[in-house]
Amino acid sequence: MITLVKGFHDVLPDESPKWAFMVNTAKAVLERFGYREIIPPIMEKTELFVRGIGQVTDIVEKEMYTFEDRGGETLSLRPEATASILRAVAEHSLLRREPVLKVYCIGPMFRRERPSKGRFRQFFQVDAEIIGDDCPYTDAEAIAAAHAIMTEMGATGLMMEINSVGCVHCRSGYRKRLQEFFSGWLGELCPDCTRRLEANPMRILDCKVERCGEIAARAPLITDSLDSSCREHFHEVREALDLLGIPYRIEPRMVRGLDYYTRTAFEIVHDELGRSKAVGGGGRYDSLLGELGGPDVSGIGFAIGLERLAMGLSDDDPRFRRSMDVYVAILGEQARSMGLTVVNDLRRHGISVETRYSKMSLKAQMKLADKLGASLVMMIGDDELAGGEVTVRDMSTREQAVVKIDEVVRYVQGERA
Ligand code: AMP
Repeated sequence: MITLVKGFHDVLPDESPKWAFMVNTAKAVLERFGYREIIPPIMEKTELFVRGIGQVTDIVEKEMYTFEDRGGETLSLRPEATASILRAVAEHSLLRREPVLKVYCIGPMFRRERPSKGRFRQFFQVDAEIIGDDCPYTDAEAIAAAHAIMTEMGATGLMMEINSVGCVHCRSGYRKRLQEFFSGWLGELCPDCTRRLEANPMRILDCKVERCGEIAARAPLITDSLDSSCREHFHEVREALDLLGIPYRIEPRMVRGLDYYTRTAFEIVHDELGRSKAVGGGGRYDSLLGELGGPDVSGIGFAIGLERLAMGLSDDDPRFRRSMDVYVAILGEQARSMGLTVVNDLRRHGISVETRYSKMSLKAQMKLADKLGASLVMMIGDDELAGGEVTVRDMSTREQAVVKIDEVVRYVQGERA
């Protein structure tokens, strides 16, 4: 048997109602917030992610699925959606028509991480971006959209953590302070962090090696390096969140794993899973679009991971229960052609119907109807055939009625109303 690629997963039919629920809820919330869907491809030129996400990041250094295609071009499966979306915005000059653009995309991302519970190599994200507006209230609006997706799905045990990672100016001072601090621990940092010290000391803060984490816990805080305008920006974001009544926690050690973030950064964490298994995260990026060849405007976005979100939703939720309007029980070969016509007629009228054409006992068919979550069972046997009628059983009340064959559609529609 050929099995799945390690770290990849199937969404099986029993899980797909939950999946559809998450996707539909996210879409409904985002469209209510004024976002529209964009569907970029899942593969880009590698250079896009190197430039967008940053050369010295775990994603670019270790986790991308990169290969040379048959034409000799170096391509990568997308590890995240922001860089792709901004490439599309720049390439199609979307901001010329709409100076503030709100877009979302839902689809698979690929990172060759070490698989564990809630960590996959292919995972689905809902990604939403507001591009072209740098008002702190817009940051709060993005956070509010992420929060609304979570609450509307009924996900529990989640907390919004926010921070400001400053602008390029604050960051250059902070970088020096971090280099000074970590130089004192040089012998104890992992080889990757020793290398990061020169190139990108902020990435030491999200190293997954335990000892590096212990040392990073004592590192200077970015919030102490913020200049007055970044401080003011952060203050206004919090003010707007307070006005919106969105609960949050300030987490001065959260820096996020991608280089492009500036000012506001946020994560939605599960109290039990902690920040290493966040359900979602995002932040503002001041220079990313400019770096990718677009206009020099700021944006703010977030991504929510569907696998991690699904972990917080109960499988027994009635919203994910299988359901069907009608099961047509065909009893005997004579009834088959009438069954086929009834099934077809009902379906043409927008009614969901299942049946089995091969021989099955009534008992087995009732069991199947129950499993399928059918509201009504329509029985067609010899007697019914002779009288041009069907017997309809309501699966919840167990009441039965005899309905004329040309009345079945109207009958089911009446029952559904
Ligand atoms: P990031 O793009 O790293 O900020 O991730 C945003 C969200 O995507 C996370 O909060 C997770 O929910 C999800 N995510 C990121 N990496 C993985 C992964 N390897 N497996 C499953 N979900 C992931």
